[in-house]
Amino acid sequence: MTCGKIDFGCTKCRLSKGRTRVVPGTGPCTSPIIFIGEAPGREEDLKGEPFVGRGGKLLDEVLKDAGVDRSEVYVSNLVKCRPPDNRRPRKDEIETCSQYLESEMKAVRPKIVCALGQTVAKRLLDSGEKMSDLVKKERKIIIGEREVRLFVAYHPAACLYQRKNTSSFRKSIEASLRAARLIH
Ligand code: URA
Repeated sequence: MTCGKIDFGCTKCRLSKGRTRVVPGTGPCTSPIIFIGEAPGREEDLKGEPFVGRGGKLLDEVLKDAGVDRSEVYVSNLVKCRPPDNRRPRKDEIETCSQYLESEMKAVRPKIVCALGQTVAKRLLDSGEKMSDLVKKERKIIIGEREVRLFVAYHPAACLYQRKNTSSFRKSIEASLRAARLIH
């Protein structure tokens, strides 16, 4: 299920030109936590769902190992359309698309946000801190006029490229699930 208002015909930024589908978040609108990734990739663009490729499989596996099914949590992205050649979304694209994430935040009202990767953490915290520092402690941020507890995890793709990031990724996901009271 998608929560909040999404324009499936949106043409507000250049990313609309190359996309197959707008990819909104999915999950229950009652989820206590939102996982936020960067942008849809090729498989997400084709399917219209976030995190369904290899990175998504790793996220599913780590959630499952922690005792949580993916269907219990809301998963979304900073931008809802795939950037060309899987480049990082640009500042203006993230800015233009932020109304959709804010709408999802307002609908779900999560207590916890888990930022997946440095681009997302940088954008939400407006900070240039290193990932190795960002993953160490939780912070508080305001999104869509609400204060939430923010956890930062390595992006699943960063774990696929660099296996050594996986244990940190697991720890961050578990810490965020614990804060969301989905696990003990
Ligand atoms: N990477 C992301 O950041 N989001 C997705 O939905 C898929 C891959």
